[in-house]
Amino acid sequence: MAINVTRSSMPTYEEYCEEIKDLWESRWLTNMGAKHNELKARLCGYLKVPNAELFVNGHLALYCALKALKLEGEIITTPFTFASTTNAIVQAGCTPVFCDVADDYTIDVSKIESLITDKTSAILGVHVYGNICDVEAIDAIAKKHGLKVIYDAAHAFGVEYKGRGICTYGDISMLSFHATKVFHTIEGGALCYNDASLTPDIVKQRGFGLNGEEIDCFGTNGKMNEFQAAMGLCNLRHIDGEIESRGQAYRLYTERLSGVHGIKLLPLREGIKQNYAYYPVLFDKSAFGKSRDDVVAELAKSEIVARKYFYPLVSSNKEFSEDLSYLTPIAKEFSENVLCLPMYAHLDDADIVRICDIVLSK
Ligand SMILES: *Cc1c(COP(=O)(O)O)cnc(C)c1O
Repeated sequence: MAINVTRSSMPTYEEYCEEIKDLWESRWLTNMGAKHNELKARLCGYLKVPNAELFVNGHLALYCALKALKLEGEIITTPFTFASTTNAIVQAGCTPVFCDVADDYTIDVSKIESLITDKTSAILGVHVYGNICDVEAIDAIAKKHGLKVIYDAAHAFGVEYKGRGICTYGDISMLSFHATKVFHTIEGGALCYNDASLTPDIVKQRGFGLNGEEIDCFGTNGKMNEFQAAMGLCNLRHIDGEIESRGQAYRLYTERLSGVHGIKLLPLREGIKQNYAYYPVLFDKSAFGKSRDDVVAELAKSEIVARKYFYPLVSSNKEFSEDLSYLTPIAKEFSENVLCLPMYAHLDDADIVRICDIVLSK
């Protein structure tokens, strides 16, 4: 049977119908309704964050974070991410400055300071595959140079570091609740942050810039609707079981694939509670005998979809005056050799074994 790279978690049909039933009574479908408010409160508890605002998707959340922080000039970030990260920087009127990644796919903190100029306003790190950036080193650099710190935490729902919710690091973290993520609201997203004084600016950016009867800024429309929030409330009831099931899949993959010459598995920072968002494998063709693209083709023959993720680097966007991927050779090499294997809750053990057999076949 065909296996996709991901499969959305869903409550039963009955559970979702039960959850949306009151919307036919209230007739309140969006604009901070009861479902939205309940989900926000529950997420703050689950994620161990003091403040959160919910959005229609993660991308607009990230855009609003940059606007709410009033960032200008250059933002140091990495190209080893989804297009959204860089697009949000450019759409917010800033210039992305690409820093290379370390061997765990996150921003190489030893290379950040040499990229800081008098135009730098922030560092935007990406927590990749559920692994996290070196948040302590980034914090120290930001303090020293007076920079803001934003995290694209789209892959890091529920991740904790040293017992703290990962979204409590930095000034603002963005989560994506897209259907393909560990937790989803069909489409959706959130900003999480420690400083409650950011709330009015975040809310204005999300809601057309409106402030009572005044229009304070050129805000967008990023509000989460009640049907999205209802899906979130249902999914949140089952999240621990879903993450545990992903963990089982993760461990079986690791059992089969660790110690193989020419294959590198995800290096995780010590002290994190994982969410098992993705199962990336890095292939070294000369040592392993097959390239990443060979493996993709072999899996495809068995109707198994693995994803070249992230490929290509977002620094190759054609709207840049040139392909900037040469600036970050390590990220470029990863993007050409990494493959995300199918990963979702309740993925069959037998399917994982079959996938690994194909990956390892000579
Ligand atoms: C999914 C994702 C986004 C965008 O989130 P949406 O909710 O789809 O808008 C941004 N960054 C990364 C790293 C992602 O994986």
